[in-house]
Amino acid sequence: DTTHFGYQTVATGEKQKKVADVFHSVAAKYDLMNDLMSFGVHRLWKKYTIELSGVRAGQRVLDIAGGTGDLSYDFARRVGPEGQVILADINDSMLKVGRDRLADRGIAGNLETVQANAESLPFPDNHFDVITIAFGLRNVTHKEKALSEMNRVLKPGGRLLVLEFSKPRNDLLSRAYDVYSFKALPLMGRMVTGDPDSYRYLAESIRMHPDQDTLKAMMEDAGLAQVRYHNLTGGVVALHRGVKA
Ligand code: SAM
Repeated sequence: DTTHFGYQTVATGEKQKKVADVFHSVAAKYDLMNDLMSFGVHRLWKKYTIELSGVRAGQRVLDIAGGTGDLSYDFARRVGPEGQVILADINDSMLKVGRDRLADRGIAGNLETVQANAESLPFPDNHFDVITIAFGLRNVTHKEKALSEMNRVLKPGGRLLVLEFSKPRNDLLSRAYDVYSFKALPLMGRMVTGDPDSYRYLAESIRMHPDQDTLKAMMEDAGLAQVRYHNLTGGVVALHRGVKA
């Protein structure tokens, strides 16, 4: 596949293959599963992400690993006709669901979809005012590479927001969450998508993902300044924000 940026997707590595299989398999049911699994709360986490991005009319936004386009939809309305939103994802099944869904909801003109790998972004330096990656970074094989790519394509003063599962702040919540993710998620996955393995992968990838302070340090290493994070839902999810120096 080649995008109009002339970028070619090259599948490499076991993890990347596994991630591709998971998202091809769940794409059609992805939105329903998000609402079920998070009891609808993912909508609030995403709203908060948009607020904290400080996005304004006329700005240029990249929503990488944007999947079916929840954030892109809100961004497209915020930046208005003078602005631009790029919904980018490595997976064409997810992008197709996203594209159809956004067209159904009347979003066109200031939004385009691009198939791209976060580790190698097909955009020039200093290009975007805001970049978001929501529930995407844990799926990326080389996270350091992806973070430095995002820093590269941000304008100086531009903001990167990373919304991701993280480490719950208290033991009780942490244990409840383990039971939920290792028992309930695969069960729900089986019932709704017929694919318990993909939701087992989800639980494993959440457990392996760097905790709040580790991710903060990784963002700083990638060159971002003023990095702060906000725990949401007791740290089940964290929103990290950094600014390009
Ligand atoms: N951001 C959306 C949301 O919050 O609903 C979708 C999140 S979904 C859990 C994760 C997405 O990351 C999938 O659409 C997957 O294809 C994408 N993804 C995984 N690895 C990627 C990579 N290396 N580069 C770009 N996207 C990637």
